[in-house]
Amino acid sequence: MNTLDFKRRIPVKYTPDLCVVGAGPAGVAAAVSAARTGARTLLLEAQSFPGGMSTAALVPIFMPFTDGHHFLAGGIGETIYRRLRQCCIDRYDFDCHEAIPAELLKLVYDQMIEEAGVQVLYRTEWIGCETHDGTITAAVFTSPGGLFAVEAPFFIDCTGDARLAFEAGAAVELGDDDGKLMPATLCSLWCGVDWQAFEESDARSHADPKLLELIHLAYSRGELSREDLHHTGIFRTTPETGAGNISHVFQVDPTDVESLTAGLIEARRTVVEYERFYRKYIAGFQSAEVASTGALLGIRESRRVAGEYQLNLEDYCNRASFFDEIGRYNFPVDIHPSDTGKETLEKHRRMFDRGSCGPGESYGIPYRSLLPKNTTNLLVAGRCISTDRSVMASIRVIPGCYITGMAAGTAAALCVKAKCTLRELKPITLRAKLREHGAYLPEQSEVKQ
Ligand SMILES: Cc1cc2nc3c(=O)[nH]c(=O)nc-3n(C[C@H](O)[C@H](O)[C@H](O)COP(=O)(O)OP(=O)(O)OC[C@H]3O[C@@H](n4cnc5c(N)ncnc54)[C@H](O)[C@@H]3O)c2cc1C
Repeated sequence: MNTLDFKRRIPVKYTPDLCVVGAGPAGVAAAVSAARTGARTLLLEAQSFPGGMSTAALVPIFMPFTDGHHFLAGGIGETIYRRLRQCCIDRYDFDCHEAIPAELLKLVYDQMIEEAGVQVLYRTEWIGCETHDGTITAAVFTSPGGLFAVEAPFFIDCTGDARLAFEAGAAVELGDDDGKLMPATLCSLWCGVDWQAFEESDARSHADPKLLELIHLAYSRGELSREDLHHTGIFRTTPETGAGNISHVFQVDPTDVESLTAGLIEARRTVVEYERFYRKYIAGFQSAEVASTGALLGIRESRRVAGEYQLNLEDYCNRASFFDEIGRYNFPVDIHPSDTGKETLEKHRRMFDRGSCGPGESYGIPYRSLLPKNTTNLLVAGRCISTDRSVMASIRVIPGCYITGMAAGTAAALCVKAKCTLRELKPITLRAKLREHGAYLPEQSEVKQ
């Protein structure tokens, strides 16, 4: 491949204390926490609004915030959850519980970003870094007004793909030992559903044998191009709409734009197949239609950073505790199989159930798993933190991302205040501030293991 040197003289437009890249669940939590802790925080996001997968990709529901006894995503996560529910009740007289009305969630994020005093820029995409000996000295962005740079003492990578960490020289892992990745899903927004009929039906998700029979039937009739039995389902998100997390696209590499593009095109085609399938076979959907698909393809798995500690399955199974623990979480190991078929689905179920946390149980998350090796002034938060593949499949869900985002933002802001490095920050100081802001951080002796 030919190469060229690309040089421009560009303005250094912003010099905040902290630059957070990516405003998904992790980025919003990081930026809001940092600003609340006193750092002048700049948050930059490629899309037109905050939320990442939780809004732009139309992910329909939150996975657990609690362990049944404790609010694990305390602080930022709890505020988001409570405000969203209240917003839904005020606007629609409808309690969304764990469902995500994406438009309302955008408003909740906007409000929290504004209240905290974060400076946010949408339609602004990070494209590269200047680095020196593992230190990011500037980050370069493209925006509708052209290219510009940000200089800051600290950066947090919340891109979901570990883009800054990778460019800054951190080692990363992607996929299983054979490089296979969890499939992607293009989530969809549905209207015209008779929710009562649907809620009473016996064919709603892969837990219902009837639905699997119908998928098999439609596939054998050539109405579905793939017999994908791992069918999460459609969830009511407002009185009139629902969001669907249905069908998988396989072998999509989120770090390769050609692969992503092919995945998007295939996924859009598949959503139309499912629209026909639902209208024909599923109670309550006879007059339903897909009003929209996600602006982003739903990516479950991307790069995982090699950090100062790699959180692993053994830690998960032991319900580990750490001296530098920044939070605890509990969602099962949810590795969506990288191909279709009953056997892979059964394997997925076994993995999901194996060692999964009961009420009151959780595993600790160390601060070190947010610190990429070979970098000095960078933290990561969200689905790309330093874990093995199994733990990533647990921590990747939205409440998990609020926990790591809140910790990363708080840590960076404390370092700004104390004029210390990320590695000099004392865990006891970080944990005290996180607790003050509502994080669930029990004394180690209180943890059920
Ligand atoms: C299909 C699917 C279903 C899921 N279902 C659930 C579920 O039911 N419940 C649940 O809790 N979780 C679910 N998840 C998991 C969860 O939604 C994600 O793992 C989580 O949103 C990851 O958060 P994040 O902040 O790390 O990254 P993301 O949500 O991916 O956010 C990253 C943000 O960074 C931005 N960005 C990326 N690159 C750049 C750049 N160069 N410059 C500027 N901005 C950039 C992106 O636009 C995005 O807004 C699901 C995920 C998928 C894909």
